[in-house]
Amino acid sequence: MTIALYPGSFDPVTNGHIDIAERAARLFPTLFIGVFEAPKKDVLLPIEDRVALFQKSVAHIPNLKIISFSGLMVDCARSIGASVIVRGLRMNTDFEYEFEMALMNRKLAPDLDVVCLMTSLEYQFLSSSLLKEIAKLGGNIDSFVPKHVVSKIEERIHRAK
Ligand code: ADP
Repeated sequence: MTIALYPGSFDPVTNGHIDIAERAARLFPTLFIGVFEAPKKDVLLPIEDRVALFQKSVAHIPNLKIISFSGLMVDCARSIGASVIVRGLRMNTDFEYEFEMALMNRKLAPDLDVVCLMTSLEYQFLSSSLLKEIAKLGGNIDSFVPKHVVSKIEERIHRAK
């Protein structure tokens, strides 16, 4: 019974992430979403919000659980008994980054394998950072994230002004 872990910052979760989670949940009997507490990049949303927004977005997927983690991703994977890491690939730049990470993680944990799912065409140019930029400039993000994410992002950006 393979356990898979889909880790990321998810700041916030987007329709692209949800698509990868839905597809990975069809491939593996148990899928964990691992929300990384303190990524290198600046985050807009606190960890509790990032977890809650993802949770609400995937409530329809029965074999999926959400956790948060700090520290090494391979340690998180070990702690839940995962043998597969799921990542999403958009364009070339994602590939180079994921390739480097996968090789480094293989050194750290040779028993863990990385499975990359190609993005669906409509999400190819969708990233959390781009949509935050659009929202900050007053643009409409309705088609990139679920409704409950739109309201949280708008509230957060409004509060920061
Ligand atoms: P990171 O883990 O680098 O902080 P994210 O949290 O934004 O990045 O994304 C987590 C994972 O989901 C990464 O593998 C990323 O490439 C992938 N991903 C992000 N956006 C999309 C998308 N629109 N389509 C498919 N995969 C995506």
